[in-house]
Amino acid sequence: MDIWTKNKRSDVMSKIGSKNTKPEILLRKELFKNGFRYRVNDKRLPGKPDIILKKYNLIIMVNGCFWHYHKNCPEGRIPDTNKLYWKDKLLSNRRRDKKNIYLLKKLGWKTMVFWECEIEKSLHKVLIKIIKKMKKSLKDSD
Ligand SMILES: [Zn+2]
Repeated sequence: MDIWTKNKRSDVMSKIGSKNTKPEILLRKELFKNGFRYRVNDKRLPGKPDIILKKYNLIIMVNGCFWHYHKNCPEGRIPDTNKLYWKDKLLSNRRRDKKNIYLLKKLGWKTMVFWECEIEKSLHKVLIKIIKKMKKSLKDSD
């Protein structure tokens, strides 16, 4: 179904692919640079989470604002064409995210979700939040 103009399509296409989206790579690099080691997209865990910091019992998800339907974000909106299709699709993505987080928590993981726009705005702030959570996680497991 060709519902987009060429430009719009390539714009949307560039957002497709939950793996190796740009903000996710930025965050991984930043973690690595700061000495943190992690696994990525572990298939054995619900929703193949983006970043797994086993030592800290922490899972980090990086959500694209469009595909995960970010509330109150200009990118998290229903496209004007095929509104019903998109609404259904994006809402079901959001439900799946919630379910995965629930399952991960049940398995004993701590989870953090960061949005593409948050990372683009300040990678530094995101990193600080993660480090705080890691410290807390180590304390909790003492
Ligand atoms: Zn956003």
